[in-house]
Amino acid sequence: MAARDEVMAALKGVPGPDGRTPLPESGAISGLTIRDGKVFLAILIDPAEARKMEPMREQAEAAIKALPGIAGAVVTLTAESARAVGGGGHAHGPPQRQGGGRSAAPISGVKRIIAVASGKGGVGKSTVACNVAVALARLGFKVGVLDADLYGPSMPKLFGLAARPQLAPDGQRLIPLESFGVRVMSIGFLIDEGAPVIWRGPMVISALNQLLREVVWGDLDALIVDMPPGTGDTQLTMAQNVPLSGAIIVSTPQDLALIDARRGIAMFQKVQVPIIGVVENMSYFLCPHCGGRTDIFSHAGARKEAEALGVPFLGEVPLDLAIRQNSDEGLPVAATLPESADASAFMEIARRVADTLEAGAPGAKPAPRIRIV
Ligand code: ADP
Repeated sequence: MAARDEVMAALKGVPGPDGRTPLPESGAISGLTIRDGKVFLAILIDPAEARKMEPMREQAEAAIKALPGIAGAVVTLTAESARAVGGGGHAHGPPQRQGGGRSAAPISGVKRIIAVASGKGGVGKSTVACNVAVALARLGFKVGVLDADLYGPSMPKLFGLAARPQLAPDGQRLIPLESFGVRVMSIGFLIDEGAPVIWRGPMVISALNQLLREVVWGDLDALIVDMPPGTGDTQLTMAQNVPLSGAIIVSTPQDLALIDARRGIAMFQKVQVPIIGVVENMSYFLCPHCGGRTDIFSHAGARKEAEALGVPFLGEVPLDLAIRQNSDEGLPVAATLPESADASAFMEIARRVADTLEAGAPGAKPAPRIRIV
């Protein structure tokens, strides 16, 4: 099995970002992990040069793979930069779409790709994505989750997963991890927690494409994509680069969140991704002591908003301490508290989503589906 030194020695033949200094001396190597003969290498670059750096990335990958005893190599480009994602990204704005339609190629074996998005952070988008995926799996669907929230991947925690994904026998693709019957891929599996990785512009798309396309998903009825929160250029570019058959918008009931949710809906409509529906999270408060229900905010705001906008309403999820606690422990309530009101809420939402899977989401080609019962 190759050691770090051997990998570094192999990389001496690869010029670093300046085109001259060999990679090991360039100071650009920001991460090197070797596990079971598989090498994960991160190279730090200027995000503005992401496209130019792609040949270097490929060369580094090839140099590592050429080493004896290497089961595979995954090299990624990363950028170290203070904030900048979402806003002000005009220099690396979304590529103009050719012909106005969605152009991303489908993923073979994956019938539907569904984005879970929100107009802003903290509304429980990832929690909903995780639990709806788990609920769909409980309903008998083959489900995957792609954590596209590159800046704050939360799927490793939500699914209680900490291992590194294995490389497939082809040495090219990663095998997703599995938890509660759901296949999961997240950048969080590949980079160390707390590592300051900020992705922008083309790099986001390069990383997203690797997580989406260089993964052995196998046959899936639905791949749930947890989008980064917000409606900036990055999110728009992502929505264009993933062959989405629909989007679920998560909102809380407050007016401000609803304004953001409206922006989220508009963003997907702009890129012709049909809205599967809106989920109202933290809809009402479930008292952990007495089990009583309190409508803290003007409850049903999202339902009314969905009606006003002419998009389906998928259901409401209570604000419940158990959801937070179980999420923190990697024990999604949809599977671990199956009798709870929380789990029923997620099951009901999943059933509505399933209806669109079976019927074919609006605007998407219906895939034939044979159910053996
Ligand atoms: P987002 O993906 O929108 O940023 P998260 O899913 O990470 O939001 O949720 C933010 C925080 O709120 C987490 O601590 C999560 O456990 C908690 N949370 C989300 N939904 C609920 C809920 N329905 N009840 C209680 N806590 C929740």
